[in-house]
Amino acid sequence: RRVSGPEEQRLLELLSYGLVALGAASAVLLCFIPMPYGRYSSRRFGWLLPARPAWALQELPSLLVPLGLAACGGAVAAAWPNRLLLGCFAVHYAHRALIFPLLIREGKPTPFFTFVLALLFCVYNGYLQGRSLSNYAKYPSGWLKDPCFITGFIGWLMGMAINIHSDHILRNLRKPGETGYKIPRGGMFEYVSGANFFGEILEWFGFALACCTIESLAFALCTLFILGSRAKQHHQWYLEKFEDYPKGRKIVIPFVY
Ligand code: NDP
Repeated sequence: RRVSGPEEQRLLELLSYGLVALGAASAVLLCFIPMPYGRYSSRRFGWLLPARPAWALQELPSLLVPLGLAACGGAVAAAWPNRLLLGCFAVHYAHRALIFPLLIREGKPTPFFTFVLALLFCVYNGYLQGRSLSNYAKYPSGWLKDPCFITGFIGWLMGMAINIHSDHILRNLRKPGETGYKIPRGGMFEYVSGANFFGEILEWFGFALACCTIESLAFALCTLFILGSRAKQHHQWYLEKFEDYPKGRKIVIPFVY
């Protein structure tokens, strides 16, 4: 029996609570074990996969699932606010799955376990955001001129720009063939150690404001939990590794944390 209508809406709501719980549980777990990829990559978490194909494959469901759901969606998916919001989500994941992996320079391999977790997360969240925006989120006429939408959209855009710019700074710290780490400088790194993570967090909170759905808010909170923890690990790692690490730099939220 196919779940649809109010039953499916209830399911999406439960999945949203599940996503927040998952993010919160990960944040607790990550106080004890660093997220096993990149600089904390380890064979303890399964075979090591090359970074580029691992990133492309694990992130691809977040692009394909919502696009597939939008293509099968009816009148809701065809409304302009829904098209634009689905477009924002798809633009982010087109970059993350198709462009970001090609730009990685000498990235550390990804353990199989981390790859599978990321893949499952992208299927889960791709379904959650895609189904909500293509079938259930209904906006009043004039939503595109509403301050909520406009502020959220600007937040999404600025967040994505900060995320891409910060990842660009990190990539260019290495010369071809180098695999070590240096102190990142410039852009939002002058304020926080996790500038790329700050950008991504801002992006999804902006998206949540523009969408005003429980599903998008759950995703923003989950991102805050997971990337906030990773930024904290990186910050501590930098402080231990570099004596001259800038003392005033915060962890992930400029001037605050
Ligand atoms: P990191 O900052 O850990 O690494 C990004 C890249 O830069 C890696 O290739 C890394 O190399 C390199 N790098 C990082 N720091 C340095 C340094 N100090 N010196 C030289 N090279 C460095 O980011 P993640 O890999 O965790 O994330 C990548 C992107 O994916 C980010 O934009 C992030 O926001 C996004 N992301 C989103 C998630 C979500 O829940 N929405 C979850 C996870 C990531 P190496 O691999 O060798 O460490």
